[in-house]
Amino acid sequence: MDEKALADLVVGHVVDVPDFPHAGILFKDITPLFGDGAAFRQVVDGIVDHHGRSSFDVVAGVEARGFLLAGAIGYATGAGVLPVRKAGKLPREVLAASYALEYGEATLEVHRDAIEPGQRILVVDDVLATGGTAEATLSLIEQAGGIVTGFSVLIELAFLSGRARLAPRDVHALLTV
Ligand code: AMP
Repeated sequence: MDEKALADLVVGHVVDVPDFPHAGILFKDITPLFGDGAAFRQVVDGIVDHHGRSSFDVVAGVEARGFLLAGAIGYATGAGVLPVRKAGKLPREVLAASYALEYGEATLEVHRDAIEPGQRILVVDDVLATGGTAEATLSLIEQAGGIVTGFSVLIELAFLSGRARLAPRDVHALLTV
């Protein structure tokens, strides 16, 4: 499927929800995409085709919607899956990275032994907004000696300039708005 068709597919399966979870936020609800088996398979294949199935050893998914993409990409390619979790969820020793939210701060964690030095890791999530989440994920992976080979998101909110924080790495968005 070409890039235009993939972007149209995402457009057709996203619902814009005004003022969720806060006033002034236009929430991109992509659950209809996960609920349509054929569309979900097309976007997973689109992500894998963009990066190439042998370009990464592990796919990191950011809690929680990123887990759905990462699980499918891992199964499709034979790559391992790395869950990047919100603080306090993992049972063993962790690496942590904190980042600023609109109000306050959030922390992401991975198990300290989850990444091998030199391991090539693709990072996936549903939406790239300010890039804080993706940048914290990058920091976690690099702390552990891993190499981020690229990022994929279903939707990039270009007006928030998140990709600038990830430069010069490959940031792939199926749909840019
Ligand atoms: P950011 O760290 O600002 O790039 O925000 C990205 C994270 O917040 C992703 O994990 C998204 O799931 C979520 N997110 C941010 N903005 C939105 C939005 N407008 N609609 C849906 N999810 C969003």
